[in-house]
Amino acid sequence: MTILLLGSGGREHAFAWKMIQSPLCDKLFVAPGNAGTASIANNVDISPTDFDAVKALVLQEKVGMVVVGPEDPLVKGIFDFFKNDNDLKDIPVIGPSKLGATLEGSKEFAKEFLMKHNIPTAAYDSFTAETVEKGCDFLETLQPPYVLKADGLAAGKGVLIIHDLAEAKEELRNMLVGQKFGAASSKVVIEEFLDGIELSCFVLTDGKSYKILPTAKDYKRIGEGDTGLNTGGMGAVSPVPYVDAVLMEKIETRIVKPTIEGFQKDGIEYKGFVFIGLINVKNEPIVIEYNVRMGDPETEVVVPRMKSDLVELFLAVANEKLDEFELEIDERSATTIVVVSGGYPEDFEKGKVISGLETIEDSIVFHAGTKLDNGKVVSNGGRVLTVTSYGDNFEEAIKKSYQNIDKLNFDKMYFRKDIGNDLK
Ligand code: AMP
Repeated sequence: MTILLLGSGGREHAFAWKMIQSPLCDKLFVAPGNAGTASIANNVDISPTDFDAVKALVLQEKVGMVVVGPEDPLVKGIFDFFKNDNDLKDIPVIGPSKLGATLEGSKEFAKEFLMKHNIPTAAYDSFTAETVEKGCDFLETLQPPYVLKADGLAAGKGVLIIHDLAEAKEELRNMLVGQKFGAASSKVVIEEFLDGIELSCFVLTDGKSYKILPTAKDYKRIGEGDTGLNTGGMGAVSPVPYVDAVLMEKIETRIVKPTIEGFQKDGIEYKGFVFIGLINVKNEPIVIEYNVRMGDPETEVVVPRMKSDLVELFLAVANEKLDEFELEIDERSATTIVVVSGGYPEDFEKGKVISGLETIEDSIVFHAGTKLDNGKVVSNGGRVLTVTSYGDNFEEAIKKSYQNIDKLNFDKMYFRKDIGNDLK
């Protein structure tokens, strides 16, 4: 079959790398893709949120399945767009419906869903510009630090954690009245602070049954020792050594099962990934967020550990046959180190020629912000490449990634040298 994959990051290169290994995949289009996907599939210069252009391509190329990488097209309703169009309704889209995607598109909607289905989550209340003073009163009832969350999508920057009460009130006003995050902060969720270790749980569901995917941990801060600004992610490790069977059992029974049952009870159509952000407070997993797609860079360690055919797996999701699917996982560890443009996540330059890609041995380089320029691979974003390796343990895998990164070069290239150190 012909498949269309939407997106352009390392996550999408990893999906593409895995899907083209399937005998079921005759032809793969990636919109818009990057230099990495261009080397293994057909890039098309279409924005994932331009649904009319996506439709034209799907019909012209007789695409049989659409796989959605990022959240934007999902939150804008690409699943419903296909379902409600006579020409497209039989073509499966791997992703949730618009209502399902609201779990990521609105923090308040997610909190209401969690409360309604008795899934453990932090106590909260939500406020608008009209109720900003009530929000300040609510802050006075909480213990510091204070957690303020813009309701809508804010490119991963919409959560503020503030230690000082006066500053928290001021930021609440900035968000609600000053529109600090534009329309995304016209509503703000104020949440109890949870003190514990963060972890993520990745689930793939057909709306009825589900598969829990390998655990992964990512490294969010730009600086070593988890310091400095938040980024999209600077590295990832799978599996997570400190997640044991007892904790996984709690996550499954208290969180994953009630989430999928909640979809059914609420009539939420969902055929895609659920990425559950958790904080483990004294061995009690508590949900802090839902994302409605895979994480990036976690995909670059989770997908390489899947031995099963990814296209077959997606078809099982589309046909609601996930319960019959045997998901096989590679026992080895996988790690990935993200290589970024100097200056990221603030200002950085693009268009730097990347050298050494052909010298990589025993690692997989997934491209993120890259493009082809006169036959040369050049940087085209903040996160540029991510280098994934396998090992019998994560230390061995990390060592391989670092050895290979040493062979790569571009002007002002930067990467964290401490990925996995906290797990040793
Ligand atoms: P979110 O977008 O909800 O994942 O929030 C971004 C980051 O803020 C998370 O990765 C956590 O580090 C932190 N965070 C969110 N909610 C809480 C909470 N209730 N308590 C402590 N930290 C939180």
